Amino acid sequence: MKVVLKHLTKIFPSRDKKNDQDVIAVNDFDFEIPDGKLVGLLGPSGCGKSTTLYMISGLLTPSSGNIFFGDTDVTALTPEKRGVGLVFQNYALYPHMTVLQNILFPLQNLKGAQKMSKADMLKQAQEAAKLVQIDNLLSRKPSELSGGQQQRVAIARALVKMPRVLLLDEPLSNLDARLRLQTREEIKRIQQTTKITTVFVTHDQEEAMSISDIIVVMKNGIVQQSGQPQNVYDDPVNLFVAKFLGTPPINVLQGKVVDSKLYINDELIMNVDGVSDQEVTVGIRPEGFIPNEKGELSCKLSNLEVMGRDVSVVSTNPASLNPTIRSIIDSDIKIDTTKEYVKYSIKRNKLFLFDIKDGNRIRFEV
Ligand code: ADP
Ligand code: MG
Repeated sequence: MKVVLKHLTKIFPSRDKKNDQDVIAVNDFDFEIPDGKLVGLLGPSGCGKSTTLYMISGLLTPSSGNIFFGDTDVTALTPEKRGVGLVFQNYALYPHMTVLQNILFPLQNLKGAQKMSKADMLKQAQEAAKLVQIDNLLSRKPSELSGGQQQRVAIARALVKMPRVLLLDEPLSNLDARLRLQTREEIKRIQQTTKITTVFVTHDQEEAMSISDIIVVMKNGIVQQSGQPQNVYDDPVNLFVAKFLGTPPINVLQGKVVDSKLYINDELIMNVDGVSDQEVTVGIRPEGFIPNEKGELSCKLSNLEVMGRDVSVVSTNPASLNPTIRSIIDSDIKIDTTKEYVKYSIKRNKLFLFDIKDGNRIRFEV
């Protein structure tokens, strides 16, 4: 089921007497979620992710704009009529019911033509339980399950009605690191098996990048960029997106362009043909630094952090807008830690220029 958002906007009226500014939680969201894909909705807390999701589900009514499932305008339909499955951050299972009863619950509430026989309900619940691999836990109560198992029950409950669209709001944030990893792989597998169009909301860029076919990056209710995770990472449209994606984050420095040449401090870093003379914000991905005695950029060495496969070199530079510069180097390359400075050449495709005022990308000829 393709899901189309057309100029979707949600304004919450201010209830604060001292501050009468209305909150524009979602501002003109215009997007098409292709059939059968998993879209990761990504952005910092408060950027409008949940509001968007609840409008798709029908729990919130948009202030303006429309939502289509396929070619049908569902904007005025109730959540029940839309056929969506919703999973929240806190699993919200019924504590007095068993796992099976929890999963059966949405089916027992079906009315009219949708009403099902007991045997059919049981069969469908068992299938959903099997899909999320909790079919051996059906007679337990939620309190007798781990966090990860509880979340699987919540997912089974959302899947049991065979929803046309699956909506997940930060479904992993209550799990510990290992379970988070495992459950996210699980969600990916379930999504690929069922081919249900899915929207996955998270503030965790790594989670979104790893699980999504397409990511949508939001800020202050406004979509900044969308695309395949790798493409967005490799080609950010502005400084916000560049900073939001990637761990360790992109390094940000002040620079200037004179005669199509980029300088950081007084060091000539590279030719940037097509850019007019101006001060710029320079972003360099951690993997864009190549240690090289004859390199263009000098940084003062602070320390090395060994991570096994890679080494993270921590250094400083007067032009850096962050306290330190962090580069990721293959651990086979040895850094001479007796030296005060480390010199780098910079990979051309790992360096981005941004407008110092609005943060928009300034492109140069690669
Ligand atoms: P996210 O899920 O990305 O953290 P939300 O969609 O929950 O963000 O919220 C977006 C903005 O809308 C925030 O500024 C939030 O305070 C505001 N907001 C959300 N729900 C309401 C509400 N019911 N009433 C007023 N403001 C709200
Ligand atoms: Mg939220």
